[in-house]
Amino acid sequence: MEQAGTGQQTHCPYCALQCAMTVTASSHGRNDGVTITGREFPTNRGGLCRKGWSAADLLSHPDRLTAPLVRGADGVLREAEWDAVLHLIADRVRSIQAESGRDSVAVFGGGGLTNEKAYTLGKFARLALRTSRIDYNGRFCMSSAAAAGNRAFGVDRGLPFPLEDLDAASVVLLLGSNTADTMPPFVQHLRGAQAAAGLIVVDPRRSATARLTDQGKGVHLQPTPGTDLALLLGLAHVVVAEGLEDRRYLAARTSGYDDVARGLARWWPERVQGITGVPAAAIRATARLLAQGARSGAQGGPGAYILTGRGIEQHADGTDTTTAAINLALLLGLPGTLHSGFGTLTGQGNGQGGREHGQKADQLPGYRKITDPAARAHVAAVWGVPEDAIPGPGLPAVELLASLGRPGGTRCLFVHGANIAVSAPNASTVIDGLRSLDLLVVSDFFLSETAALADIVLPVLQWAEEEGTVTNLEGRVLRRRAAVAPPPGARSELWLMQELARLLEAPSLFSDDPATMFDELARASAGGIADYSGLDYSVLEGGAAAYWPYPAGSTGTPRLFLDAFTHPTGRAVLVPVAPRSAALDARVPAPLLLATGRLLEHYQSGTQTRRVTELLAAQPAARLQLHPATAQDLGIAQDDPVVVTSAHGEARALADLTADIRQDTVFLAFHYAEAESANRLTGGATDPVSGMPEFKTTPVRVASLSTRAFTDQLEAIA
Ligand code: SF4
Repeated sequence: MEQAGTGQQTHCPYCALQCAMTVTASSHGRNDGVTITGREFPTNRGGLCRKGWSAADLLSHPDRLTAPLVRGADGVLREAEWDAVLHLIADRVRSIQAESGRDSVAVFGGGGLTNEKAYTLGKFARLALRTSRIDYNGRFCMSSAAAAGNRAFGVDRGLPFPLEDLDAASVVLLLGSNTADTMPPFVQHLRGAQAAAGLIVVDPRRSATARLTDQGKGVHLQPTPGTDLALLLGLAHVVVAEGLEDRRYLAARTSGYDDVARGLARWWPERVQGITGVPAAAIRATARLLAQGARSGAQGGPGAYILTGRGIEQHADGTDTTTAAINLALLLGLPGTLHSGFGTLTGQGNGQGGREHGQKADQLPGYRKITDPAARAHVAAVWGVPEDAIPGPGLPAVELLASLGRPGGTRCLFVHGANIAVSAPNASTVIDGLRSLDLLVVSDFFLSETAALADIVLPVLQWAEEEGTVTNLEGRVLRRRAAVAPPPGARSELWLMQELARLLEAPSLFSDDPATMFDELARASAGGIADYSGLDYSVLEGGAAAYWPYPAGSTGTPRLFLDAFTHPTGRAVLVPVAPRSAALDARVPAPLLLATGRLLEHYQSGTQTRRVTELLAAQPAARLQLHPATAQDLGIAQDDPVVVTSAHGEARALADLTADIRQDTVFLAFHYAEAESANRLTGGATDPVSGMPEFKTTPVRVASLSTRAFTDQLEAIA
């Protein structure tokens, strides 16, 4: 940790852009007067967004938890001693598992945890708790993109190239990502495409990012929610029908072209216009623009990139939709070339590293499959345990949460780095499940809505109080540094897992030293897809641009696929996809479709950013975006309180009338809790491949609260 008054070079606590910053502790008092300044780094070039600039507010916040809390028989949480609390947890785990089996205890992790914590949490679940049941909130973010990337390329690294490569592009197709709000410094990497009038934004809303296409800088396509897959098939149809594909690339580097091309025949632009609402002429023009950029890139000039975000991925057909985007990129010859590419934009701070090191239900460290005998043998050897000591695959997040409190289901849950009472779909049911548990243990630094339901709350350290690593949206591993002293009473999650593992007699090493756990992670990852075995803290401290795979003896891999894709054949795979009838039905207004998403001022469930005065003042309450014509039909005026109702529940918000949204669509950010919680409304189908819940096309009704009160009175009288 730095001395007071000198700056520590670290990275932002929030999103996956991982903007570089310098945190300077004050020379008086613990964390009062901590200052943050942006630092030169390829992703942010010195820039920060409002969240990053104000992140120091979290460090000295009066809500900070500084002692373990235990719920008494009277239902009140009271402070307790660490030693007694850890013994209590170990005793309760033992008795629950003795009664109901090992899988009656489960773990829920988060994509904001450092690599060391994510790795140790996976090991803790399997060797200390001896349960198969662990999954994490990345299932709600990146799982469809990951599944599609693995299927097509044999690997899932969000951006398989450094972000700076985008700067030289003449065409960028941005699908379902509002980066101008979610990660503002990213926008500077789109300027090349804007200057070439080649920025194409696909979003049902005229978002801040869509407005970057104004003044001739590109085009905004505004499809009906839930029809992105059809739009992508239409674009690919034009590429094939007009002979715009890169035949030489397809023959040399891919397989599966014939099946995909055959399936595209029925997605002609006029048909796609009827489904998506995007004019056939715009579909043709977009396909031609992409092909023009691809040709330029293939000749060493400014190229074309296709990037996906949650807008097209958070659907019950998210894997197939992302696959359609990859197919389009492969037809044009973009992935694995120097001047063009395909990527997906990771959201959470360690959303990339968090999905590599074993906190997923089906995964071991190094992005290994838990069902692969060779992977199990390798990891067992690193852990010093017999292979059968590692349980098999567990339940993906939605199924895991559905098992809470059910007969034969989960009786005890450990939560780290997640606020599932707000961020999980069908939040009311999740809250009921949390309440019905015999033991809920939540590690957090604030009393989040999930922690408030816990039987035991463990106060842990924040981003600038501990050492660790994260892996940003480019697959680059970064050091997070301790810059300020933690409050007395709070402990690192590595320490508490070490202590609990000791009490539970876990048969392997658990250390509270991040460097020790990183070294073990690196060994466990050796030979895996996400290979970190050439990395240690000294390499990262030296400022290495450490892109994985980074096997021992290498200097890392900034650009994947330049020679070959990761499948054993070395080829990328085009996979035929088409909308299932249920997905096509999503375009039928019933009567409105709700899309949930993010705001500039808040992050994830808002546990942190709703506690930053400046951010809360800017966005203090949930606001439902709806079109003025829709509002007029419903008798709703600007700032009216409204109630939104779906098959899963209802939420309250203030009406925000804007012509930036389609008349058949409403938008609600998911950063707010309780009556304002957008996830009280979500909870439809999940993607059959990835387990991703549907977040973008929930059928809802909207009414002004006054109208609703009147209707309720009428029903009461009747
Ligand atoms: Fe950068 Fe994201 Fe932090 Fe904003 S929230 S400063 S974009 S890392």
